[in-house]
Amino acid sequence: MDIFEKCHKFRDADTVKEAGLYLYFRTISSGQDPVVLIDGKQVIMLGSNNYLGLTSHPEVKRAAQDAIAKYGSGCAGSRFLNGTLDIHTKLEERLAEFMHKPAALTFSTGFQVNLGVISCLAERGDVVYLDKLDHACIIDGARLGFGSVVKFHHNDIDDLRRRLVVHDSRKAALIVVDGVFSMEGDIVNLPELVKVAQEHDCRVMVDDAHGIGVLGAHGRGTAEHFGLEDNVDLVMGTFSKSLASVGGFVAGEERVINWIKHHARSLIFSAAPPPASVAAVLKALDIIEREPERRAHLWENTRFMADGLRAMGFDTGHSASPVIPVLAGEDQLAFFMSKRLQEEGVFVNPIVSPAVPPGRAMLRTSYMATHTREHLERALEAFGRVGREVGIIQ
Ligand code: PMP
Repeated sequence: MDIFEKCHKFRDADTVKEAGLYLYFRTISSGQDPVVLIDGKQVIMLGSNNYLGLTSHPEVKRAAQDAIAKYGSGCAGSRFLNGTLDIHTKLEERLAEFMHKPAALTFSTGFQVNLGVISCLAERGDVVYLDKLDHACIIDGARLGFGSVVKFHHNDIDDLRRRLVVHDSRKAALIVVDGVFSMEGDIVNLPELVKVAQEHDCRVMVDDAHGIGVLGAHGRGTAEHFGLEDNVDLVMGTFSKSLASVGGFVAGEERVINWIKHHARSLIFSAAPPPASVAAVLKALDIIEREPERRAHLWENTRFMADGLRAMGFDTGHSASPVIPVLAGEDQLAFFMSKRLQEEGVFVNPIVSPAVPPGRAMLRTSYMATHTREHLERALEAFGRVGREVGIIQ
């Protein structure tokens, strides 16, 4: 027996490559802008999570450069030991204030936030309730903990209620959901969810990776959007989307953040986010507060594309956010359409099983505040050509 046997036998990616349809790990030789450069060709980017377009904002870039000049390129250790800089604590205070929570804690990636937070809260005998379409790092965080895991049907609060009715009230429970689901772009039914959580004395954690900067009058995310900030116990966010950097955070009550700080293994045993990344987030927060018109523009772009795609006859599922899936059905068709769209000068992400259920393969599109109307009109024309060519629209 050889542990590498499965690797030697794995041919799925090769088969897709041989068909000329492999679109993963595409190499971009420009910034993460509305138009990117791939193989020397300009392509309209409809696959980025740079929702507010801040990764190339001159002030964000300057803040990152200044931080490198002052602190160097890395922290050479974990937050827990030698790696905490004054800008990490400044960012945590800033995030707590921005999110209207008593305390916040930064990690090196959003993935590590969910791994560390959920696993250290869910001890033996505890229960974690998860939406079936929760992000992979929520699922993995719950798996890493010693508590048991119960999954409910996607955004189906009646199903959650049925599962909670048989819940043993001696067990402590945490419900963890995406605020905006990362592939389908739909928003969690938070009003019903918090009601059920209250009925059953469960704590609620929202992963707002795709909600922060996007939803709510001030960009505080899904809970602000619904006016339910006091009903959500923990909010996590990532810096890799609206916040134009890399890293992540969790915000909540002080004693809980203190527990996480001293128990989350992905925080304690991993290096701190580097100075440039931290300084970029601090500046991005300033701009988000100062320029609410960016969020308004993002929503104008989102509505234009959602209306345009639906008017042409595409199925965009239940999207209610700047993440708009275009359903293709079979995996092969999603690959083929994505490939054709790239030839037509448009970048989209093919999402196939097992990331989505079989038969529900999609092209995940997402929008930025900085896309111009002309970019979006060109993208819609390309969608029209490719959609008619494969016969999924008339
Ligand atoms: N949660 C959700 C919902 C996400 O979409 C992602 C990233 N795609 C993460 C968490 C992880 O964030 P990061 O990229 O910062 O690791």
